[in-house]
Amino acid sequence: MSLQAFLARRVVTPDGIRPAAILVEDERIQAIVSPEQVPDGYTMNDFGDAAILPGLVDSHVHINDPGRSEWEGFETATRAAAAGGYTMLVDMPLNCLPATTTVASLQAKRQAAHGKCRVDWAAWGGVVHNNQDDIEPLAAAGVPGFKCFLVNPGIDGFTMVTEQQLRSALPHVARTGLPLLVHAEIPGPIDRATEALANADWTRYSTYLQSRPDETELAAIRLLLSLCREFGFRLHIVHLSTSEALPELRAARSEGLAVSVETCPHYLHLSAETIPNGATLNKCAPPIRSRENNNKLWQALRDGTIDLVVTDHSPCPPAMKRLAEGNFQTAWGGIASLSVALPLIWTEASQRGFTLLDVAQWMSAAPARLADCDARKGRLVAGNDADFVVFDPDREFTLSADKLHYRHPVSPYLGETLRGVVKGTYLRGNPVFTEGAFPGDPAGRECTSPVHRSPP
Ligand SMILES: [Zn+2]
Repeated sequence: MSLQAFLARRVVTPDGIRPAAILVEDERIQAIVSPEQVPDGYTMNDFGDAAILPGLVDSHVHINDPGRSEWEGFETATRAAAAGGYTMLVDMPLNCLPATTTVASLQAKRQAAHGKCRVDWAAWGGVVHNNQDDIEPLAAAGVPGFKCFLVNPGIDGFTMVTEQQLRSALPHVARTGLPLLVHAEIPGPIDRATEALANADWTRYSTYLQSRPDETELAAIRLLLSLCREFGFRLHIVHLSTSEALPELRAARSEGLAVSVETCPHYLHLSAETIPNGATLNKCAPPIRSRENNNKLWQALRDGTIDLVVTDHSPCPPAMKRLAEGNFQTAWGGIASLSVALPLIWTEASQRGFTLLDVAQWMSAAPARLADCDARKGRLVAGNDADFVVFDPDREFTLSADKLHYRHPVSPYLGETLRGVVKGTYLRGNPVFTEGAFPGDPAGRECTSPVHRSPP
């Protein structure tokens, strides 16, 4: 039996930030006590002035494994995650081959992940045009929920759903009680805007932004809210970009609809006004909008309309970003940020008067709840897995490629000075990242829904 105490001046617990010792017995948090109350027999790990936050949970990651591991893969994604303070990732069902739309493909993913993960993981199931009958079996096999697209996701092997196809899937989704995560953009306004821009200069960021107007998201969210009312399923809007949808999302929540909302570091840290022409590393869908829009998203985090912040880590081989020609029409859309999301968010949040308690809520507790792993993850409380990140919130650093530990270390943030350094990440009491190194063998496990979890 191993008894360890992890001490720091700023331990971020659900009740507040205070000097404390986290007592860990084997893999779980046994208790959180004041530093002078550590009983005899514990190995002491004192992090002094640093902060200890719960291990971050990223419920929106594209790992691309099996099938496109040259884009990313379990090994590199979970290594990058550990370096970024994450202890749990939930993989999106597209980009991998086969896509996670059947129980057989979920088993293929489990095989691909086996022995490669430095942090824990789970997999969302996909809802596509023709797999309605796979939804309940996927739930029984242990996915924490589902993901679908209302617009073409732009990758072979995963289809969008029309309203009619979604309607035939929703009774199955509702019966599982699990959330449906939706990419909320619809094709109509995109097609019309893109047609009108046929002769525009696609090396300009403004052209790309005009091709995906706010209306694209707004119309999708209106449709989803009405379906949520009609079918009574748990709706989760992924990567909200437009602030124009916020009033209707606020109203839906006051009405008591089961709707939750996420946004991402790039929508909170970058703005359209400062994206240089040709800088396709900033391309994602929905697009990064104006600074004014960005400020409204921060306001929505403050008032709770947006629940969580996730990376939407979506890498590709660098050639697909078309950096040489800088063409926003043909470049792959997706921004990778697993190793750097916490400093990005802390840089912004600390300037806006938020605390590490808010960050822990957005980046750990809320995504753990969405992914149905909050009985073990997401908070520093007795009984939970001893997952945590040691963070120096006061130190600044300049982002260089050697700090990005995913497969292709490209990033729109290179060269930026950011606030907050991840000093170490602990998974079930063991270090998985310390001062630039990754000790130990990969020990990450799949973390399935409590109902489906097999006994230890
Ligand atoms: Zn995504």
